[in-house]
Amino acid sequence: MDLVKEIQRLKKEKNAVILAHYYQVPEIQDIADYVGDSLGLSQKAAETDADIIVFAGVHFMAETAKILNPSKTVVLPDLNAGCSLADSCPPEDFAAFTKKHPDHVVITYVNCSAEIKALSDIVCTSSNALKIVQSIPKETPIIFAPDRNLGQYIINETGRDMLLWDGSCIVHEAFSIDKLIELHKKYPEHKIIAHPESETHILDTATYIGSTSGMINFVREHANEKFIVATEAGILHKMQEEMPDTELIPAPAKEDNTCACSECHFMKMNTMQKLYDCLLNESPQIDVDEKIRERALLPIERMLELSK
Ligand code: SF4
Repeated sequence: MDLVKEIQRLKKEKNAVILAHYYQVPEIQDIADYVGDSLGLSQKAAETDADIIVFAGVHFMAETAKILNPSKTVVLPDLNAGCSLADSCPPEDFAAFTKKHPDHVVITYVNCSAEIKALSDIVCTSSNALKIVQSIPKETPIIFAPDRNLGQYIINETGRDMLLWDGSCIVHEAFSIDKLIELHKKYPEHKIIAHPESETHILDTATYIGSTSGMINFVREHANEKFIVATEAGILHKMQEEMPDTELIPAPAKEDNTCACSECHFMKMNTMQKLYDCLLNESPQIDVDEKIRERALLPIERMLELSK
């Protein structure tokens, strides 16, 4: 069976849209209607008139699409595609934490469950995190969750004193500073660009720090330069497609692996076969409890409003 043709046929027949994250495998990025970062994907999910949203990403992303589109069918190719960062913030523990600090505004990074979003005042992504934190009056104390590395980056950039939840992403904490320094010694002309979920010692080496979209834009604007890219290696597909002559090297992971890079195994659980199956069977579907959905919608809408 020609999976590409069959997916395209089903998509048309069922009025479906495929939204894919930059960390998906290249074949899925190529067949998607839209490829983007968390902010772009949320914006697309909010404005789609498709009946079915196939979310080629991880669970919290599909959940965000469902929160924004309760009447639409949202499917995720593999229900096990979770996220270590979202898992690092259990709702009961976080509720107890926020209760201890009732005067704090709660800002949560979109990489968290619907339950955590429902406990938040405003959601952010790595594209708009600085802007969202800066929109809060200076005298108002802030809780930032779940990513401590992104939180620390925001503190360093804005000077705001925030209470950080101690969560992290296994992929962005997998970069080896020693191997990165060695690699940079070998390729001194390559500039290091990094995602703010990376640890501070990695960010300290970077010429540019930004979201996945921000990193793509930076490479586009400096296409005649060379780069070492410190984020999930799937982003290289989009960069190389647009800038085929730009030299890119993925930043090395601590563990030795086949791609010599850092890959998110949750993102890579989605395959073309699973994408086809979920579109055909309209399963597995994402459902969110209505009370939680209503509470989680507000902080997402605040973010989308501030990101216009
Ligand atoms: S790269 Fe990290 S934050 Fe993104 S989905 Fe994978 S584990 Fe979660």
